[in-house]
Amino acid sequence: MEHKLSIYNSISRAKEKFIPVNSPNVGLYVCGPTVYGEPHLGHIRMALTYDILFRYLLYLGYKVRYVRNITDVGHLEEEHFGSGEDRIAKRAKLEQLEPMEIVQKYKNIFNDIFKKLNILPPSIEPLASGHIIEQQLMIKKIIDNGYGYTKNGSVYFDIEAYNKKHRYGRLSGRNIEDMLNNTRKLDGQEEKKNPLDFALWKKASPEHIMKWPSEWSEGFPGWHLECSAMSTKYLGKTFDIHGGGMDLLFPHHECEIAQSVAANGKSHVKYWIHNNMITIEGQKMAKSLNNFITLNELFTGTHEKLQKAYSPGTIRLFVLQAHYRSTLDFSNEALQASEKGLKRLMSAYEMLDKLKVANKSSFEIDSLIDACLGSLNDDLNTPIAISYIFDTVRIINNINDGKESISEIDLVKLKDFFKSVVIDILGLHPEKSLAGSDDMENRLMDVIIGIRNNARQNKDFSTSDMIRDKLVEIGINLKDTKDGTSWEKD
Ligand code: ZN
Repeated sequence: MEHKLSIYNSISRAKEKFIPVNSPNVGLYVCGPTVYGEPHLGHIRMALTYDILFRYLLYLGYKVRYVRNITDVGHLEEEHFGSGEDRIAKRAKLEQLEPMEIVQKYKNIFNDIFKKLNILPPSIEPLASGHIIEQQLMIKKIIDNGYGYTKNGSVYFDIEAYNKKHRYGRLSGRNIEDMLNNTRKLDGQEEKKNPLDFALWKKASPEHIMKWPSEWSEGFPGWHLECSAMSTKYLGKTFDIHGGGMDLLFPHHECEIAQSVAANGKSHVKYWIHNNMITIEGQKMAKSLNNFITLNELFTGTHEKLQKAYSPGTIRLFVLQAHYRSTLDFSNEALQASEKGLKRLMSAYEMLDKLKVANKSSFEIDSLIDACLGSLNDDLNTPIAISYIFDTVRIINNINDGKESISEIDLVKLKDFFKSVVIDILGLHPEKSLAGSDDMENRLMDVIIGIRNNARQNKDFSTSDMIRDKLVEIGINLKDTKDGTSWEKD
């Protein structure tokens, strides 16, 4: 299969023609979230970047296995140094829940938000805690090959031994001296031979909850290891694309490469892709600046930085209007512009069914479609693709106003173009995008739940049970909890 897709490969720092290792199969691995809090805009940028890549590869006819992991163990507070408290365990203490309850709770919230945003689920969503044995086997291989050492029950990756034969820093372009100069001295680091060495296995302190037996100690795997172990397990020792946020490039992905080379003798990835970050009104997202806007806050308009609520479709278009390698700045103005754009786009889509055809078209449709797909082939340049789509929106409006004309055959092409590019590739769906349908359903359910609550308060249980049973019949389940009644569809 020959395509013109080229993607920017972070390791060669150049756009490269995409040639799969084993066409038409494509293996795609993406570092998914650590599930210890609600998803914010940064998570969504990551998920949407690879959703577009996944959808586009499917559109091109590839058979894609998309693996996006969930980190549920080993991601420590000081991630760069592999020290501090486990993020999930800390949250579990705070919410007085089991760590696995925290994982399940936030995993459900992430998946619910991803679904609202029309982000396709990956083919496999592995959990780090479900692959402890695979990680332990990889550690053994690394030690056997001479790149790992044990100290007080923990196992560390030996950067110096690795650097004698290979080059640590290839992906990030950093050299060891610079990295050493930039490394802070931290407590608990004295076990390491070299400050850059990172943990493959950590001995757990007695109060640590998430720990497993091993030949080294009762402990847990280092954060970087899960992705090397799980990507190899599901995609093989060499696969096509590994993606993640720019913030993961160093040290997470650098360590992944070192681990795979140390265990298997070669790097596991052909193309490294990194999406850029989201800034909020020009500033980095940071807890101290109170600008971590969650998706639930965006959908409901409840964060103090928000002037109103924004629909999932608006947020989706907003994110895609920037190229994934550029920073994207959040502002109310930008979101409101996307909201208007989405309305225009969807009304043009609906207009397509009502257009009158003429003998001849007043414009060149093939070149427009080629240019649009050409921009997606050019490292997934969604903003340029979207600008071509808006060119067709203007033409559709002109045809509707009688200022331009379209032939029957071109109308078929135009409809096909909208279906494949707007709906299938960009994932902008009329029902899901237009505020209204989703909103109306929520509002109706609020009314029904309110009536049922009244009946229950009046001890009219025959009415409240009838409402619940009738809803079950149409596939809606109510769930009563101490915080009130929620609902979900089958
Ligand atoms: Zn990862």
